[in-house]
Amino acid sequence: MRKPLVAGNWKMNGTRAGVGELLDGIKAGMGAVPNAEVAVCPPFVLIPEAAARLAGTAVAWGGQNLSTHASGAYTGEIAASMLTDYGCKYVIVGHSERRTLYGEDDALVAEKYEVARKAGLVPILCVGETLEERENGTTEVVVARQLDAVLERFGAAALGQGVVAYEPVWAIGTGRTASPQQAQDVHAFIRGRVAARDRAVADALRVLYGGSMKPDNAVELMAQPDIDGGLIGGASLKASDFLAICKAASG
Ligand code: PEP
Repeated sequence: MRKPLVAGNWKMNGTRAGVGELLDGIKAGMGAVPNAEVAVCPPFVLIPEAAARLAGTAVAWGGQNLSTHASGAYTGEIAASMLTDYGCKYVIVGHSERRTLYGEDDALVAEKYEVARKAGLVPILCVGETLEERENGTTEVVVARQLDAVLERFGAAALGQGVVAYEPVWAIGTGRTASPQQAQDVHAFIRGRVAARDRAVADALRVLYGGSMKPDNAVELMAQPDIDGGLIGGASLKASDFLAICKAASG
């Protein structure tokens, strides 16, 4: 049985003054989320604040990105060891905003995945097609390419130590969610592709859905057999909405 994970991606949002209220609200509701793991991924500068407030609670925390380098002359970058130093459990790699706005390609994302994994972090590997790719029928080709970048280079066992998030680019921050069936189809495709290499890894792999998940669509999405939680952007910035999604995942 896969324990669902709901991870909040705050993106470039949040203030030191506001983080306490948001985290206190999440912590206060965790009693109603017995069967799901919950994590938040704040911007780097808010991680120490999150770590201080979440230590000893059921809520984990993580980064939104990391460098492939260990240290040195890489202005503006953050190393995996800096994330683990602050108790991060998770790190998002290959979010579509990193891929499209910052030119991260499959090879770089795979390298980030491996650096994170080797540092003891649980990488959340984001994959997903653009609207154009969906409309021209290449969703599976694109998702397979993004997945294979890790699978072929580092193997199924490495993928098994992370989490995959299927995030159709056209659904991220748009209010346009994939239908439960559309999401399930791609999740099943992802699991099948991993199963072709290692069935045990595929069976245990958590595949999250991300893309305008909200309290009013979370129950139906989470009910799909291959959806094992969510990567939540906008709705993770409001404790009540985020908790409602966590409850949907918890069942
Ligand atoms: C995301 O940023 O990963 C995301 C899924 O955003 P949203 O929930 O706002 O669509």
